Amino acid sequence: MPIRILSPEIASQIAAGEVVERPASVVKELLENALDAGATNVSVTVEGAGKTLIEIADDGQGIPAPELPLAVERHATSKLTRADDLFHITTLGFRGEALASIGSVSQLTLTSALPGNPAGARIKIDGGHATPLETIGAPQGTVVRVEHLFFNVPARLKFLKADTTERRQIDALVTRYALAYPHVRFRLQQEGRLSLQTSGKGDRREVLGILYGPDIARQMLEVNAVYEHFRLTGFTSPTALTRSNRGEITFFVNGRWVQDPALTAALIQAYHTLLMVGRFPLAVLFLDLPPEMVDVNVHPTKAEVRFRDRDQVFADVARSVRRALLAHTPIPEVNTQLRWTSPQTSEIWSSSGSRPSDTSWGQTVDPAWDMPREPEAEPDWNPDQPSAANTPPQPELPTDRVPLLRLVGQVATSYLIAEGPDGLYLIDQHAAHERVLFEKFMAQRGRDIPAQRLLEPTPVELPPHQTRLLEGQLLLLGKLGFQVEEFGRNTFLVRAIPVVLSGLDPRAALRVLVEDFEEDETPLQAEIEAKIIARVCKRAAVKAGQVLSPDEQRTLIHDLESCNSPRTCPHGRPTMIHLSVDLLERQFGRRGAR
Ligand code: ADP
Ligand code: MG
Repeated sequence: MPIRILSPEIASQIAAGEVVERPASVVKELLENALDAGATNVSVTVEGAGKTLIEIADDGQGIPAPELPLAVERHATSKLTRADDLFHITTLGFRGEALASIGSVSQLTLTSALPGNPAGARIKIDGGHATPLETIGAPQGTVVRVEHLFFNVPARLKFLKADTTERRQIDALVTRYALAYPHVRFRLQQEGRLSLQTSGKGDRREVLGILYGPDIARQMLEVNAVYEHFRLTGFTSPTALTRSNRGEITFFVNGRWVQDPALTAALIQAYHTLLMVGRFPLAVLFLDLPPEMVDVNVHPTKAEVRFRDRDQVFADVARSVRRALLAHTPIPEVNTQLRWTSPQTSEIWSSSGSRPSDTSWGQTVDPAWDMPREPEAEPDWNPDQPSAANTPPQPELPTDRVPLLRLVGQVATSYLIAEGPDGLYLIDQHAAHERVLFEKFMAQRGRDIPAQRLLEPTPVELPPHQTRLLEGQLLLLGKLGFQVEEFGRNTFLVRAIPVVLSGLDPRAALRVLVEDFEEDETPLQAEIEAKIIARVCKRAAVKAGQVLSPDEQRTLIHDLESCNSPRTCPHGRPTMIHLSVDLLERQFGRRGAR
């Protein structure tokens, strides 16, 4: 084929593909325009998951009528004049592409009126073709109406995810902008239902409550680091509040939502050693730098930025978050200089052969030794990596079943010691309980899992995006023994939970489930059901650090004995370490070489 210049229509559809990937990208561009126009009220209406209608109305400065035809032209912007301006950008837009792109793949109506001018104007673009300007009465500000998105690019429609996913993306986007701009009143209506409304009073924690629900919002730690050319504000989670992926880490740079793996890495760095492997914090952080320190023109959707002094920025982010963490959470640090290693003390130690009874002893032990335990979190079990370097290799047992065990006791309020015919068993109480719950649950699967009605149905409020997720799964929840029904806006009523979970806080149980849905967007099938059950069991199981009565310890061991796969938890970590008599004898030099 000879080389030809593409027709303007194809060229603009190609360009549109870069900017407008899905309904949420339209919402983002239009929100940014409204914010650039200085709006204090922004109202978003979505129908058909954004494919039927996206309308954004603002009360910003408006567009003069004669400029309306220009606004929808490609490379037409009021935000930039000289190339040099590109490096001092203070607006969210600057490429002059959004309206043209959106207009080329939808039916777009742009209505705008200037302040104090009752006459407004309207222009329509249908798949890239503009109609003449009309004059009409309109309130101050701009209304952009986008209908039948991608009607002329059916291939693009096929790439969209399920409606619930697209709606959730929009929820997540508007909520995050509402957080970034707490002085603007946002209102989001999806499919005729109000899904977000903020007061515009400047209270970020209020919006945080909408995003994560009141419980989490209350726990989030405030970050407020202000230096000369660097400002980091926002919220980050305490070490006990984590997720199993990076999905809840949000960064805004100079008012712009960016996806920057390196900023995320800097945040995670701040949590170094405070979180278990495979756990990630939640954070909404706003980074502000002088505009000339950031290049925002690296990506068509402006979702990536480049920093002039990248290393410095990352170091500052990590340090600021670390400070916030340390200020809120006293972090146990083991003093490596244990005082009893001083010559004098160790002499006493070795000569008396026992712990010195001298009263000064009590003071010489570093109190930090008795350190609080790290927050409960699960390491991802990696079978290639021994759990502790000095654990002797364990001989494989012929069967998976465990023999009858006799309880000896509990150590470190985390492990049970038991004796069997073939030696000693150290049992991780949490992992063991997880296994027990999991098998009880799975045994009931397929039938109706017995549910226990709560004395008082518990209302649970969820953030809008989680609400959408849960809505679609109520039936499945029913099968798992959860009776949950919708109860007003973003609220569900838990009426019953599975009998095996009785005693667990219904709110916590429901949240675990929603988190699970968030991690897996695919429709739920049988194996996913098992995965969910495993997660619920993990949350419901007794924790390390929990004191168990001898009866509870015995019951746990007894239940574990009757499990089909007692040796691992549902996630594959070991529930027990077996020290065989043979191994003990060799370790003590009673038999054979060491
Ligand atoms: P950009 O935002 O990059 O300039 P857009 O295509 O998004 O490009 O918008 C083109 C122009 O239309 C903007 O520069 C601005 O002057 C005007 N405009 C768009 N939306 C609005 C709005 N909501 N209020 C006021 N002016 C707007
Ligand atoms: Mg724009």
